[in-house]
Amino acid sequence: MSDCIFCKIAAGEMASEMVYQDERVVAFKDIRPVAPVHILIIPRKHIPDLTAITEEDAGLIGHLHLVAVKIARELGLADRGFRLVNNCKQEGGQVIYHLHYHLLGGRQLKNIC
Ligand code: 5GP
Ligand code: ZN
Repeated sequence: MSDCIFCKIAAGEMASEMVYQDERVVAFKDIRPVAPVHILIIPRKHIPDLTAITEEDAGLIGHLHLVAVKIARELGLADRGFRLVNNCKQEGGQVIYHLHYHLLGGRQLKNIC
């Protein structure tokens, strides 16, 4: 998707503070962090939101979760705990329509549900 900022970040066409990348997934620091650790983890593949995933993406989504845990462990959050969040569509608070998960941690997070 040529007009998608997260596609551009994944392709290295737009600057970001990258913390992880492989052939399927990239992770970079959120530009407006709400916690000491606030990283966005995205598939390179342009998937607009969580409802657009198919059976074909099951391995990709599983891999993304493994990457999230790997990053959390490297940042010392695996024992303390962290939150992995997907905001889906309007009422879920989604602003950027390229599937992404927020990895949040480094402080006590309040329960939201
Ligand atoms: P959403 O509300 O869609 O779940 O979250 C989008 C997130 O992307 C927000 O937390 C916002 O701060 C972040 N964001 C928006 N534009 C950029 C950008 O250009 N670079 C980075 N690193 N983060 C961005
Ligand atoms: Zn995209």
